[in-house]
Parts: sequence; structure tokens; C-alpha cells
Amino acid sequence: MPHCPTLIHQLRQRGYRITPQREMIIQALASAGGHVTAETIFEQVKDRSSAVNIATVYRTLETLVVEGLISRTNLRNGLAVYVTNQHGPHIHLVCRQCGGLIVMAPAGMVPLVEQIQAEHHFTADLQHLSLSGLCASCLEKAKN
Ligand SMILES: [Zn+2]
Ligand SMILES: [Zn+2]
Repeated sequence: MPHCPTLIHQLRQRGYRITPQREMIIQALASAGGHVTAETIFEQVKDRSSAVNIATVYRTLETLVVEGLISRTNLRNGLAVYVTNQHGPHIHLVCRQCGGLIVMAPAGMVPLVEQIQAEHHFTADLQHLSLSGLCASCLEKAKN
């Protein structure tokens, strides 16, 4: 929860107007304490304000992503999930068969990021990645 005033403060500093709707959306995101979808946030705020619609929720979340204050990744079937940067960098390993999810630290990706930087002068964002593949049990089933 203490992350919420920080996010609002940072947005305001960057010249964004904090409407009551934006504030409610940010509150819902910060108090979730983990991954949320735009739909989850919409469910929480729609009873408090009829001025909020799903498009407002998406726009507010995407503004926070563009400003680097929160991060988004796409899980199975392109489902977008958002998490505040307080959560720390991590990678989702998503099984494309069963949808199973493993979360790992991104340390092993550092050499790849350095190679991308050297070859393409592109700074890859390691904060929140999602890799698709097969989990151990689905791989085992595929062999039989
Ligand atoms: Zn699987
Ligand atoms: Zn994540």
C-alpha cells in the first residue's frame, strides 16, 4: 500500500493530471500487492465510480508502463498482467500446453542483454519477461 502515494507523486511530477479515477485505479493496483489484469482492477473500481470504464483502466495502466513506473507482461493467450516495480525483476516461464507458470530471477539473462546492447545498441528491459515453452510434465507426455 505505501507504494501508492509514490506512484501518484511520480505521475504528477511528470505533468500528468491525477483525476479521482486515475487515483482509484492506482490505489487498486498498489493494494493488490502482485500481478493484476485490467479486468481485476476494473471490477474493484467500477462500484466506486461510474465514471471509470475498462478503457480508462487500460489507458491509466499503459501510461504507468510507458513512464516506467509499473511493468506489463503477456502470459498465456496474450493475457496482459501488470505489477508495480516494487515487485522486482522476474521472468515468467509459461507452459504453452497446460498454462503452468514458473517464476525465476533474471540473473541468467544478463549476458544476453549485454550481447543485445553490443550488437544492436538496444537496452532490453529485464524487469518483466515472459517466455513460452513446455513444462517438464508436458514434455514427458509429449514423448509418450
Ligand atoms: Zn505444462
Ligand atoms: Zn510478473
